[in-house]
Amino acid sequence: MDKNYTAELEQIVNPENVITSFEERLTYSYDSTRLEYMPDVVVKVKTAEQISRIMKLANEYTIPVTPRGAATGLSGGCLAVEGGISLVMVAMNKIIDINPIDLLATVEAGVITENVSKAVEHLKLFYPPDPGSMKSSTIGGNIAENAGGLRGLKYGVTKDYINSIEVVLPTGEIVNMGTNTVKAVTGYNLVDLMCGSEGTLGIITKATLGLLPVPADRASILAFFKNMTDAAKTVRDIVAEGVITATLEIVDKVTINAIEDFLKIGLDRTVGAMLLIEVDGQKGAVEIEAGIVMKVCRSNSALSVRQAKSAQERDELWSARRAALSSLSRIRPSTILEDATVPRSRIVELVEAVNEIAKKYGMLIGTFGHAGDGNLHPTILTDLRIPEQSKKTERVIEEIFKVTIALGGTLSGEHGIGITKAQYLKLEISKPVYDLMKKIKNSFDPNNILNPGKMKCTWDA
Ligand SMILES: Cc1cc2nc3c(=O)[nH]c(=O)nc-3n(C[C@H](O)[C@H](O)[C@H](O)COP(=O)(O)OP(=O)(O)OC[C@H]3O[C@@H](n4cnc5c(N)ncnc54)[C@H](O)[C@@H]3O)c2cc1C
Repeated sequence: MDKNYTAELEQIVNPENVITSFEERLTYSYDSTRLEYMPDVVVKVKTAEQISRIMKLANEYTIPVTPRGAATGLSGGCLAVEGGISLVMVAMNKIIDINPIDLLATVEAGVITENVSKAVEHLKLFYPPDPGSMKSSTIGGNIAENAGGLRGLKYGVTKDYINSIEVVLPTGEIVNMGTNTVKAVTGYNLVDLMCGSEGTLGIITKATLGLLPVPADRASILAFFKNMTDAAKTVRDIVAEGVITATLEIVDKVTINAIEDFLKIGLDRTVGAMLLIEVDGQKGAVEIEAGIVMKVCRSNSALSVRQAKSAQERDELWSARRAALSSLSRIRPSTILEDATVPRSRIVELVEAVNEIAKKYGMLIGTFGHAGDGNLHPTILTDLRIPEQSKKTERVIEEIFKVTIALGGTLSGEHGIGITKAQYLKLEISKPVYDLMKKIKNSFDPNNILNPGKMKCTWDA
Protein backbone atom coordinates (compact mmCIF):
# COMPACT_ATOMS: atom_id res chain seq x y z
CA MET A 1 0.00 0.00 0.00
CA ASP A 2 1.02 3.59 -0.66
CA LYS A 3 3.17 4.96 2.21
CA ASN A 4 2.20 8.55 1.37
CA TYR A 5 -1.44 8.06 1.90
CA THR A 6 -0.89 6.27 5.22
CA ALA A 7 1.19 9.20 6.41
CA GLU A 8 -1.56 11.60 5.33
CA LEU A 9 -4.19 9.50 7.17
CA GLU A 10 -1.99 9.63 10.30
CA GLN A 11 -1.94 13.40 10.06
CA ILE A 12 -5.74 13.50 9.92
CA VAL A 13 -6.59 11.10 12.80
CA ASN A 14 -3.24 10.62 14.66
CA PRO A 15 -1.06 7.52 14.14
CA GLU A 16 -2.71 5.41 16.88
CA ASN A 17 -5.97 5.47 14.90
CA VAL A 18 -4.43 4.13 11.69
CA ILE A 19 -4.02 0.33 11.72
CA THR A 20 -1.84 -1.36 9.15
CA SER A 21 -0.56 -4.55 10.86
CA PHE A 22 -1.91 -7.80 9.39
CA GLU A 23 -3.05 -9.22 12.76
CA GLU A 24 -5.06 -6.14 13.70
CA ARG A 25 -6.57 -5.69 10.25
CA LEU A 26 -7.75 -9.30 10.39
CA THR A 27 -10.30 -8.33 13.08
CA TYR A 28 -11.82 -5.87 10.61
CA SER A 29 -11.96 -8.31 7.72
CA TYR A 30 -15.14 -10.07 8.98
CA ASP A 31 -18.72 -9.20 9.76
CA SER A 32 -21.66 -11.35 10.89
CA THR A 33 -21.85 -13.12 7.50
CA ARG A 34 -18.44 -14.67 8.37
CA LEU A 35 -17.21 -13.81 4.87
CA GLU A 36 -13.72 -12.37 4.81
CA TYR A 37 -12.24 -9.40 2.90
CA MET A 38 -9.08 -7.71 4.10
CA PRO A 39 -8.93 -3.89 4.14
CA ASP A 40 -5.53 -2.33 3.32
CA VAL A 41 -5.82 0.00 6.26
CA VAL A 42 -8.22 0.52 9.15
CA VAL A 43 -8.96 4.09 10.25
CA LYS A 44 -10.81 4.94 13.47
CA VAL A 45 -12.56 8.30 13.18
CA LYS A 46 -14.00 10.70 15.75
CA THR A 47 -15.38 13.69 13.79
CA ALA A 48 -17.18 14.57 10.56
CA GLU A 49 -14.28 16.89 9.69
CA GLN A 50 -11.80 13.99 9.83
CA ILE A 51 -14.07 11.91 7.56
CA SER A 52 -14.41 14.82 5.15
CA ARG A 53 -10.62 15.09 4.83
CA ILE A 54 -10.30 11.31 4.42
CA MET A 55 -12.90 11.30 1.61
CA LYS A 56 -11.09 14.12 -0.21
CA LEU A 57 -7.83 12.16 0.09
CA ALA A 58 -9.54 8.96 -1.07
CA ASN A 59 -10.84 10.73 -4.19
CA GLU A 60 -7.41 12.13 -4.91
CA TYR A 61 -5.70 8.69 -4.71
CA THR A 62 -8.79 6.64 -5.83
CA ILE A 63 -8.88 4.56 -2.64
CA PRO A 64 -12.08 2.64 -1.78
CA VAL A 65 -13.60 3.57 1.61
CA THR A 66 -16.00 1.24 3.44
CA PRO A 67 -17.87 2.53 6.51
CA ARG A 68 -18.02 0.08 9.40
CA GLY A 69 -20.29 0.22 12.44
CA ALA A 70 -20.47 -2.77 14.81
CA ALA A 71 -20.18 -5.31 11.94
CA THR A 72 -23.41 -7.09 12.91
CA GLY A 73 -24.60 -6.75 9.30
CA LEU A 74 -25.89 -9.90 7.64
CA SER A 75 -25.32 -9.07 3.96
CA GLY A 76 -21.60 -8.21 3.99
CA GLY A 77 -22.15 -4.42 3.75
CA CYS A 78 -19.20 -3.33 5.90
CA LEU A 79 -16.67 -5.67 4.26
CA ALA A 80 -13.94 -3.94 2.25
CA VAL A 81 -14.49 -6.10 -0.84
CA GLU A 82 -12.16 -3.96 -2.96
CA GLY A 83 -9.61 -3.34 -0.18
CA GLY A 84 -8.76 0.26 0.71
CA ILE A 85 -9.86 1.95 3.93
CA SER A 86 -12.16 0.37 6.52
CA LEU A 87 -13.64 3.44 8.22
CA VAL A 88 -14.51 2.52 11.81
CA MET A 89 -17.32 4.65 13.27
CA VAL A 90 -17.70 3.23 16.79
CA ALA A 91 -15.73 5.97 18.57
CA MET A 92 -18.35 8.51 17.44
CA ASN A 93 -20.60 7.45 20.31
CA LYS A 94 -21.85 10.62 22.00
CA ILE A 95 -25.49 11.29 22.83
CA ILE A 96 -25.54 14.99 21.99
CA ASP A 97 -29.00 16.21 22.96
CA ILE A 98 -32.33 14.96 24.30
CA ASN A 99 -35.43 17.07 23.69
CA PRO A 100 -38.45 15.67 25.61
CA ILE A 101 -40.83 18.33 24.27
CA ASP A 102 -40.13 17.63 20.58
CA LEU A 103 -39.58 13.92 21.40
CA LEU A 104 -36.14 13.90 19.74
CA ALA A 105 -32.64 12.63 20.54
CA THR A 106 -29.58 13.77 18.61
CA VAL A 107 -26.77 11.22 18.61
CA GLU A 108 -23.51 10.46 16.85
CA ALA A 109 -23.65 7.61 14.34
CA GLY A 110 -21.54 5.18 16.38
CA VAL A 111 -23.95 5.14 19.36
CA ILE A 112 -25.15 1.62 20.17
CA THR A 113 -28.87 1.27 19.39
CA GLU A 114 -29.95 0.15 22.86
CA ASN A 115 -28.14 3.10 24.47
CA VAL A 116 -30.60 5.56 22.91
CA SER A 117 -33.54 4.05 24.81
CA LYS A 118 -31.40 3.73 27.96
CA ALA A 119 -30.55 7.44 27.76
CA VAL A 120 -34.23 8.48 27.70
CA GLU A 121 -35.89 5.89 29.95
CA HIS A 122 -35.81 8.26 32.97
CA LEU A 123 -38.11 10.52 30.91
CA LYS A 124 -40.48 7.57 30.27
CA LEU A 125 -39.54 7.72 26.56
CA PHE A 126 -38.11 5.11 24.20
CA TYR A 127 -36.61 4.74 20.71
CA PRO A 128 -38.82 2.12 19.01
CA PRO A 129 -36.59 0.38 16.38
CA ASP A 130 -35.25 -2.70 18.20
CA PRO A 131 -33.23 -5.03 15.95
CA GLY A 132 -32.28 -8.35 17.53
CA SER A 133 -28.71 -6.99 17.53
CA MET A 134 -29.57 -3.77 19.41
CA LYS A 135 -27.09 -4.46 22.23
CA SER A 136 -24.22 -4.08 19.73
CA SER A 137 -25.41 -2.53 16.42
CA THR A 138 -24.88 1.20 15.81
CA ILE A 139 -27.38 3.88 14.81
CA GLY A 140 -25.33 4.60 11.64
CA GLY A 141 -25.46 0.91 10.66
CA ASN A 142 -29.19 0.83 11.44
CA ILE A 143 -29.86 3.83 9.19
CA ALA A 144 -27.65 2.45 6.42
CA GLU A 145 -29.57 -0.87 6.50
CA ASN A 146 -32.95 0.66 7.44
CA ALA A 147 -33.01 -1.91 10.24
CA GLY A 148 -36.27 -3.35 11.46
CA GLY A 149 -36.89 -5.11 14.72
CA LEU A 150 -39.30 -7.07 16.83
CA ARG A 151 -41.63 -4.08 17.29
CA GLY A 152 -41.91 -3.35 13.55
CA LEU A 153 -45.56 -4.33 13.13
CA LYS A 154 -46.91 -1.57 15.36
CA TYR A 155 -44.02 0.90 15.45
CA GLY A 156 -42.41 0.67 12.01
CA VAL A 157 -38.68 0.55 11.17
CA THR A 158 -35.64 2.83 11.42
CA LYS A 159 -36.68 5.17 8.58
CA ASP A 160 -39.85 6.06 10.48
CA TYR A 161 -37.74 7.62 13.28
CA ILE A 162 -35.06 9.56 11.39
CA ASN A 163 -35.84 13.27 11.31
CA SER A 164 -32.55 14.68 10.15
CA ILE A 165 -28.99 13.52 9.55
CA GLU A 166 -25.53 14.93 9.10
CA VAL A 167 -23.76 13.19 6.23
CA VAL A 168 -20.28 13.33 4.73
CA LEU A 169 -20.77 12.92 0.99
CA PRO A 170 -18.42 10.58 -0.92
CA THR A 171 -16.68 13.67 -2.32
CA GLY A 172 -16.05 15.04 1.18
CA GLU A 173 -18.67 17.80 1.69
CA ILE A 174 -20.42 17.78 5.09
CA VAL A 175 -24.18 18.32 4.59
CA ASN A 176 -27.41 18.22 6.61
CA MET A 177 -30.53 16.51 5.31
CA GLY A 178 -34.07 16.60 6.72
CA THR A 179 -35.60 18.79 9.46
CA ASN A 180 -36.62 18.39 13.09
CA THR A 181 -40.21 19.48 12.45
CA VAL A 182 -43.12 17.03 12.50
CA LYS A 183 -43.87 17.87 8.86
CA ALA A 184 -41.58 18.85 5.97
CA VAL A 185 -42.01 18.74 2.20
CA THR A 186 -39.08 20.89 1.11
CA GLY A 187 -37.34 19.26 -1.82
CA TYR A 188 -36.63 15.57 -2.40
CA ASN A 189 -36.74 13.32 0.66
CA LEU A 190 -33.02 12.62 0.83
CA VAL A 191 -33.22 11.26 4.39
CA ASP A 192 -35.36 8.39 3.14
CA LEU A 193 -32.92 7.85 0.25
CA MET A 194 -30.05 7.54 2.72
CA CYS A 195 -32.03 5.07 4.87
CA GLY A 196 -31.20 1.68 3.41
CA SER A 197 -28.46 3.00 1.09
CA GLU A 198 -26.05 0.51 2.70
CA GLY A 199 -23.17 2.95 3.10
CA THR A 200 -22.92 3.55 -0.65
CA LEU A 201 -24.18 7.17 -0.89
CA GLY A 202 -22.70 8.91 2.16
CA ILE A 203 -21.30 8.45 5.65
CA ILE A 204 -23.83 9.29 8.34
CA THR A 205 -22.13 11.09 11.22
CA LYS A 206 -25.04 12.39 13.28
CA ALA A 207 -28.79 11.72 13.46
CA THR A 208 -31.80 13.27 15.16
CA LEU A 209 -34.10 10.41 16.09
CA GLY A 210 -37.79 10.37 16.98
CA LEU A 211 -38.84 9.08 20.42
CA LEU A 212 -42.18 7.91 21.82
CA PRO A 213 -43.68 7.74 25.32
CA VAL A 214 -43.25 4.31 26.95
CA PRO A 215 -46.67 2.56 26.85
CA ALA A 216 -48.41 2.42 30.23
CA ASP A 217 -48.90 -1.35 30.12
CA ARG A 218 -47.82 -4.44 28.18
CA ALA A 219 -48.63 -8.13 28.13
CA SER A 220 -46.63 -10.98 26.58
CA ILE A 221 -48.36 -14.11 25.34
CA LEU A 222 -46.77 -17.43 24.46
CA ALA A 223 -48.69 -19.88 22.27
CA PHE A 224 -47.58 -23.33 21.07
CA PHE A 225 -48.90 -25.02 17.92
CA LYS A 226 -48.74 -28.45 16.30
CA ASN A 227 -47.20 -26.97 13.15
CA MET A 228 -46.02 -23.76 11.46
CA THR A 229 -49.13 -23.56 9.26
CA ASP A 230 -51.46 -23.18 12.27
CA ALA A 231 -49.11 -20.59 13.77
CA ALA A 232 -48.91 -18.63 10.49
CA LYS A 233 -52.72 -18.66 10.12
CA THR A 234 -52.95 -17.22 13.64
CA VAL A 235 -50.62 -14.36 12.68
CA ARG A 236 -52.87 -13.45 9.76
CA ASP A 237 -56.06 -13.75 11.84
CA ILE A 238 -54.85 -11.62 14.77
CA VAL A 239 -54.35 -8.62 12.49
CA ALA A 240 -57.63 -9.38 10.68
CA GLU A 241 -59.34 -9.14 14.11
CA GLY A 242 -58.17 -5.52 14.23
CA VAL A 243 -55.40 -5.97 16.81
CA ILE A 244 -52.05 -4.43 15.87
CA THR A 245 -49.70 -6.11 18.32
CA ALA A 246 -46.36 -4.54 19.25
CA THR A 247 -44.61 -7.80 18.31
CA LEU A 248 -45.75 -10.98 16.61
CA GLU A 249 -42.85 -13.41 16.32
CA ILE A 250 -42.86 -16.96 14.98
CA VAL A 251 -40.35 -19.71 15.88
CA ASP A 252 -40.28 -23.21 14.33
CA LYS A 253 -39.43 -26.60 15.88
CA VAL A 254 -35.77 -26.62 14.76
CA THR A 255 -35.26 -23.20 16.35
CA ILE A 256 -37.20 -24.07 19.54
CA ASN A 257 -34.90 -27.06 20.04
CA ALA A 258 -31.79 -24.99 19.33
CA ILE A 259 -32.85 -22.32 21.87
CA GLU A 260 -33.67 -24.98 24.46
CA ASP A 261 -30.30 -26.72 23.92
CA PHE A 262 -28.56 -23.37 24.38
CA LEU A 263 -30.56 -21.67 27.17
CA LYS A 264 -32.40 -24.54 28.91
CA ILE A 265 -35.43 -22.44 29.86
CA GLY A 266 -38.03 -25.21 29.67
CA LEU A 267 -39.52 -24.70 26.17
CA ASP A 268 -41.72 -27.61 25.05
CA ARG A 269 -39.68 -29.62 22.51
CA THR A 270 -42.67 -31.68 21.35
CA VAL A 271 -44.48 -28.78 19.62
CA GLY A 272 -44.09 -27.75 15.96
CA ALA A 273 -44.13 -23.97 16.34
CA MET A 274 -44.50 -21.13 18.81
CA LEU A 275 -45.73 -17.57 18.65
CA LEU A 276 -44.45 -14.87 20.96
CA ILE A 277 -46.80 -11.93 21.02
CA GLU A 278 -46.77 -8.64 22.86
CA VAL A 279 -49.57 -6.09 23.13
CA ASP A 280 -49.00 -2.68 24.68
CA GLY A 281 -50.93 0.53 25.33
CA GLN A 282 -53.27 1.87 28.02
CA LYS A 283 -54.07 -0.53 30.88
CA GLY A 284 -57.66 -1.53 30.04
CA ALA A 285 -56.94 -1.72 26.31
CA VAL A 286 -54.02 -4.12 26.84
CA GLU A 287 -56.26 -6.53 28.77
CA ILE A 288 -58.90 -6.48 26.01
CA GLU A 289 -56.35 -6.95 23.20
CA ALA A 290 -54.54 -9.78 25.07
CA GLY A 291 -57.93 -11.50 25.43
CA ILE A 292 -58.61 -11.24 21.67
CA VAL A 293 -55.11 -12.54 20.83
CA MET A 294 -55.51 -15.58 23.09
CA LYS A 295 -58.97 -16.31 21.63
CA VAL A 296 -57.57 -16.22 18.06
CA CYS A 297 -54.71 -18.56 19.07
CA ARG A 298 -57.19 -21.07 20.52
CA SER A 299 -59.47 -20.87 17.48
CA ASN A 300 -56.43 -21.85 15.36
CA SER A 301 -55.92 -25.05 17.41
CA ALA A 302 -53.16 -23.76 19.70
CA LEU A 303 -51.88 -26.60 21.92
CA SER A 304 -51.42 -24.16 24.79
CA VAL A 305 -51.66 -20.40 25.32
CA ARG A 306 -50.45 -18.46 28.33
CA GLN A 307 -49.68 -14.94 29.40
CA ALA A 308 -46.35 -14.18 31.11
CA LYS A 309 -47.11 -13.66 34.81
CA SER A 310 -44.19 -11.45 35.75
CA ALA A 311 -41.79 -8.98 34.16
CA GLN A 312 -38.99 -11.53 34.74
CA GLU A 313 -40.86 -14.27 32.84
CA ARG A 314 -41.65 -11.79 30.04
CA ASP A 315 -38.00 -10.70 29.76
CA GLU A 316 -36.84 -14.35 29.71
CA LEU A 317 -39.17 -15.11 26.80
CA TRP A 318 -37.92 -12.15 24.77
CA SER A 319 -34.28 -12.98 25.55
CA ALA A 320 -34.99 -16.48 24.25
CA ARG A 321 -36.36 -15.07 20.99
CA ARG A 322 -33.36 -12.76 20.61
CA ALA A 323 -31.10 -15.78 21.05
CA ALA A 324 -32.67 -17.61 18.06
CA LEU A 325 -29.86 -16.91 15.59
CA SER A 326 -26.98 -17.53 18.00
CA SER A 327 -28.67 -20.78 19.13
CA LEU A 328 -29.06 -22.02 15.53
CA SER A 329 -25.50 -21.08 14.62
CA ARG A 330 -24.17 -23.63 17.16
CA ILE A 331 -25.63 -26.57 15.18
CA ARG A 332 -23.59 -26.69 11.94
CA PRO A 333 -20.38 -25.02 10.74
CA SER A 334 -22.23 -22.66 8.34
CA THR A 335 -25.35 -20.62 9.14
CA ILE A 336 -26.99 -18.82 6.20
CA LEU A 337 -29.72 -16.53 7.46
CA GLU A 338 -32.22 -15.32 4.86
CA ASP A 339 -34.59 -12.44 5.08
CA ALA A 340 -37.55 -13.24 2.81
CA THR A 341 -40.54 -10.93 3.24
CA VAL A 342 -44.06 -11.23 1.83
CA PRO A 343 -47.35 -9.38 2.34
CA ARG A 344 -48.82 -10.67 5.61
CA SER A 345 -51.73 -12.28 3.74
CA ARG A 346 -49.22 -14.65 2.03
CA ILE A 347 -47.26 -15.71 5.13
CA VAL A 348 -48.91 -19.14 5.34
CA GLU A 349 -47.85 -19.89 1.74
CA LEU A 350 -44.27 -18.77 2.43
CA VAL A 351 -44.01 -20.94 5.55
CA GLU A 352 -45.30 -23.97 3.65
CA ALA A 353 -43.02 -23.31 0.66
CA VAL A 354 -39.91 -23.10 2.88
CA ASN A 355 -40.86 -26.44 4.50
CA GLU A 356 -41.29 -28.03 1.07
CA ILE A 357 -37.92 -26.69 -0.14
CA ALA A 358 -36.18 -28.01 3.01
CA LYS A 359 -37.73 -31.46 2.41
CA LYS A 360 -36.93 -31.46 -1.32
CA TYR A 361 -33.21 -30.80 -0.73
CA GLY A 362 -32.93 -32.68 2.59
CA MET A 363 -31.62 -29.45 4.09
CA LEU A 364 -31.87 -28.49 7.76
CA ILE A 365 -33.61 -25.09 7.90
CA GLY A 366 -34.61 -23.33 11.13
CA THR A 367 -37.22 -20.63 10.57
CA PHE A 368 -38.07 -17.75 12.86
CA GLY A 369 -38.89 -14.11 12.33
CA HIS A 370 -41.12 -11.09 12.48
CA ALA A 371 -44.18 -12.91 11.15
CA GLY A 372 -46.49 -9.97 11.81
CA ASP A 373 -44.45 -8.02 9.22
CA GLY A 374 -44.45 -10.99 6.80
CA ASN A 375 -40.68 -11.15 7.42
CA LEU A 376 -39.26 -14.65 7.95
CA HIS A 377 -35.65 -15.70 8.55
CA PRO A 378 -35.29 -19.19 7.05
CA THR A 379 -31.84 -20.12 8.39
CA ILE A 380 -29.98 -22.77 6.43
CA LEU A 381 -27.72 -24.91 8.62
CA THR A 382 -25.04 -26.52 6.51
CA ASP A 383 -21.32 -26.90 5.88
CA LEU A 384 -20.16 -24.68 3.02
CA ARG A 385 -16.69 -26.28 3.09
CA ILE A 386 -18.25 -29.32 1.39
CA PRO A 387 -18.70 -28.39 -2.32
CA GLU A 388 -21.87 -30.46 -2.73
CA GLN A 389 -23.47 -28.77 0.32
CA SER A 390 -22.42 -25.38 -0.96
CA LYS A 391 -24.08 -25.97 -4.37
CA LYS A 392 -27.22 -27.31 -2.73
CA THR A 393 -27.39 -24.25 -0.44
CA GLU A 394 -27.26 -21.94 -3.46
CA ARG A 395 -30.16 -23.78 -5.07
CA VAL A 396 -32.17 -23.64 -1.82
CA ILE A 397 -31.59 -19.88 -1.47
CA GLU A 398 -32.59 -19.23 -5.08
CA GLU A 399 -35.79 -21.28 -4.68
CA ILE A 400 -36.73 -19.43 -1.50
CA PHE A 401 -36.23 -16.09 -3.23
CA LYS A 402 -38.17 -17.14 -6.33
CA VAL A 403 -41.15 -18.22 -4.29
CA THR A 404 -40.94 -15.04 -2.19
CA ILE A 405 -41.06 -12.84 -5.29
CA ALA A 406 -43.88 -14.95 -6.78
CA LEU A 407 -45.87 -14.29 -3.59
CA GLY A 408 -45.48 -10.53 -4.13
CA GLY A 409 -42.61 -10.26 -1.64
CA THR A 410 -39.11 -8.88 -1.50
CA LEU A 411 -35.56 -10.28 -1.23
CA SER A 412 -34.77 -8.39 1.93
CA GLY A 413 -37.06 -7.05 4.62
CA GLU A 414 -34.24 -5.64 6.74
CA HIS A 415 -30.72 -7.02 6.14
CA GLY A 416 -30.05 -5.35 2.79
CA ILE A 417 -28.48 -6.60 -0.43
CA GLY A 418 -24.76 -6.00 0.22
CA ILE A 419 -22.79 -8.75 -1.46
CA THR A 420 -24.73 -11.82 -0.36
CA LYS A 421 -27.91 -11.01 -2.28
CA ALA A 422 -26.51 -8.96 -5.16
CA GLN A 423 -26.75 -11.88 -7.58
CA TYR A 424 -30.51 -12.19 -6.93
CA LEU A 425 -31.33 -8.48 -7.35
CA LYS A 426 -32.51 -8.96 -10.93
CA LEU A 427 -35.25 -11.31 -9.70
CA GLU A 428 -36.96 -8.29 -8.16
CA ILE A 429 -35.66 -5.10 -9.77
CA SER A 430 -36.15 -4.30 -13.44
CA LYS A 431 -33.24 -3.10 -15.57
CA PRO A 432 -34.57 0.48 -15.95
CA VAL A 433 -34.92 0.78 -12.16
CA TYR A 434 -31.47 -0.70 -11.61
CA ASP A 435 -30.04 1.79 -14.15
CA LEU A 436 -31.76 4.62 -12.30
CA MET A 437 -30.13 3.45 -9.04
CA LYS A 438 -26.75 3.41 -10.77
CA LYS A 439 -27.29 7.01 -11.93
CA ILE A 440 -28.12 8.05 -8.35
CA LYS A 441 -24.94 6.35 -7.13
CA ASN A 442 -22.88 8.08 -9.85
CA SER A 443 -24.23 11.51 -9.01
CA PHE A 444 -23.32 11.10 -5.31
CA ASP A 445 -20.04 9.31 -5.91
CA PRO A 446 -18.61 9.99 -9.39
CA ASN A 447 -15.32 8.18 -8.64
CA ASN A 448 -17.04 5.13 -7.05
CA ILE A 449 -15.01 5.57 -3.86
CA LEU A 450 -17.61 4.79 -1.22
CA ASN A 451 -18.30 1.12 -0.49
CA PRO A 452 -17.69 -0.10 -4.06
CA GLY A 453 -18.81 -3.60 -5.04
CA LYS A 454 -22.08 -3.53 -3.08
CA MET A 455 -25.63 -3.93 -4.42
CA LYS A 456 -24.09 -4.81 -7.80
CA CYS A 457 -26.10 -7.31 -9.76
CA THR A 458 -25.22 -9.45 -12.73
CA TRP A 459 -26.23 -6.74 -15.22
CA ASP A 460 -22.88 -5.15 -14.39
CA ALA A 461 -21.00 -8.24 -15.52
C1 LIG B 1 -27.86 -11.66 16.15
C2 LIG B 1 -28.27 -10.66 15.12
C3 LIG B 1 -29.58 -10.21 15.09
C4 LIG B 1 -29.99 -9.27 14.14
N1 LIG B 1 -31.29 -8.83 14.15
C5 LIG B 1 -31.70 -7.90 13.27
C6 LIG B 1 -33.05 -7.42 13.28
O1 LIG B 1 -33.88 -7.83 14.10
N2 LIG B 1 -33.38 -6.48 12.36
C7 LIG B 1 -32.48 -5.99 11.46
O2 LIG B 1 -32.84 -5.12 10.67
N3 LIG B 1 -31.21 -6.44 11.42
C8 LIG B 1 -30.79 -7.36 12.31
N4 LIG B 1 -29.48 -7.80 12.27
C9 LIG B 1 -28.56 -7.26 11.26
C10 LIG B 1 -27.72 -6.03 11.72
O3 LIG B 1 -27.63 -5.96 13.12
C11 LIG B 1 -28.29 -4.73 11.17
O4 LIG B 1 -28.20 -4.71 9.76
C12 LIG B 1 -27.62 -3.46 11.73
O5 LIG B 1 -28.32 -2.33 11.27
C13 LIG B 1 -26.15 -3.31 11.34
O6 LIG B 1 -25.56 -2.32 12.16
P1 LIG B 1 -23.98 -2.26 12.38
O7 LIG B 1 -23.67 -1.06 13.21
O8 LIG B 1 -23.49 -3.55 12.91
O9 LIG B 1 -23.49 -2.02 10.90
P2 LIG B 1 -22.34 -2.76 10.06
O10 LIG B 1 -22.62 -4.22 9.97
O11 LIG B 1 -21.03 -2.34 10.57
O12 LIG B 1 -22.59 -2.11 8.63
C14 LIG B 1 -23.77 -2.35 7.93
C15 LIG B 1 -23.83 -1.42 6.72
O13 LIG B 1 -23.95 -0.08 7.15
C16 LIG B 1 -22.88 0.71 6.62
N5 LIG B 1 -22.57 1.69 7.67
C17 LIG B 1 -22.24 1.46 8.96
N6 LIG B 1 -22.12 2.63 9.61
C18 LIG B 1 -22.38 3.60 8.71
C19 LIG B 1 -22.42 5.02 8.76
N7 LIG B 1 -22.18 5.68 9.90
N8 LIG B 1 -22.72 5.70 7.63
C20 LIG B 1 -22.99 5.06 6.47
N9 LIG B 1 -22.96 3.72 6.36
C21 LIG B 1 -22.67 3.00 7.47
C22 LIG B 1 -21.78 -0.27 6.30
O14 LIG B 1 -20.94 0.20 5.27
C23 LIG B 1 -22.59 -1.48 5.85
O15 LIG B 1 -22.97 -1.33 4.51
C24 LIG B 1 -29.06 -8.76 13.20
C25 LIG B 1 -27.73 -9.21 13.23
C26 LIG B 1 -27.34 -10.14 14.17
C27 LIG B 1 -25.91 -10.60 14.18
